[in-house]
Amino acid sequence: MFKEKNILITGATRGIGKEIAVKFAKQGANLGINDVVTPDIAEDAVKELEDLGGKVIYLKADVSNSEEVKNMVKEFEKAFGGVDVLVNNAGITRDNLLIRMTESEWDSVIDINLKGTFNCIKAVSRGMMKKRYGKIINISSIVGFSGNPGQANYVASKSGVMGLTKTAALELAARGVRVNAVAPGFIETDMTKKLPDDVKQMMADKIALGIFGKPEDVANAVFFLASSDSDYITGQVIHVNGGMYM
Ligand code: NAD
Repeated sequence: MFKEKNILITGATRGIGKEIAVKFAKQGANLGINDVVTPDIAEDAVKELEDLGGKVIYLKADVSNSEEVKNMVKEFEKAFGGVDVLVNNAGITRDNLLIRMTESEWDSVIDINLKGTFNCIKAVSRGMMKKRYGKIINISSIVGFSGNPGQANYVASKSGVMGLTKTAALELAARGVRVNAVAPGFIETDMTKKLPDDVKQMMADKIALGIFGKPEDVANAVFFLASSDSDYITGQVIHVNGGMYM
């Protein structure tokens, strides 16, 4: 279904982004994997994905920087042509209680998670509108819906991503571009590895299915939203959280 389709994924050298890339590489897609990592890490990721069957290029760009994002999309288009599927996955946390949160902790999370998503949507939209088809999938989070103490910046960014998703869906629908979101719950990656064991246990107790999610669980939902099977779905969110939040 995705053979030689052009897919751009941000923050894709590890964790959820990498697993999304794996899913599409196995289909023989043309992949642009974006990140801000060192060349050796990027090279390993490219090689692993190429071995699965895709054509892969690494695109270094900080998604919070609109110029870097514009150049990233130009480079992608030069290599493969227009973007068919954009997955806005790059994200960070800088947790702190509201009263202790610094301005830079607030700004960095909003800049990467929310403005980064805006920058990438803006950079690919014109091309998708011209083709009258495109799929944009934004990675939000369970906490963007439930709130979470210690994550005012992250929660605001992920709720913002949902508002941005709905608005982009409304603005781009007439040109055949679908925009949706996936909201993961607790997924085992580097982002969650650093949490203290008591917090992990508290989270696990809230999951109806009783198990943490895996990056593949999120990748499967992204894959569905990228496919033509979801062509009548836009402006929606798929929660992938094992029943942690309903
Ligand atoms: P991760 O930290 O393992 O991976 C994030 C990737 O984004 C990294 O490769 C990192 O280098 C990259 N990145 C960071 N800043 C960037 C920038 N400015 N420009 C480009 N790339 C950048 O995290 P993950 O757990 O794989 O999370 C992926 C996405 O899923 C994030 O948006 C995260 O908020 C979201 N999410 C994760 C969970 C979870 O439980 N792990 C839950 C809900 C939502």
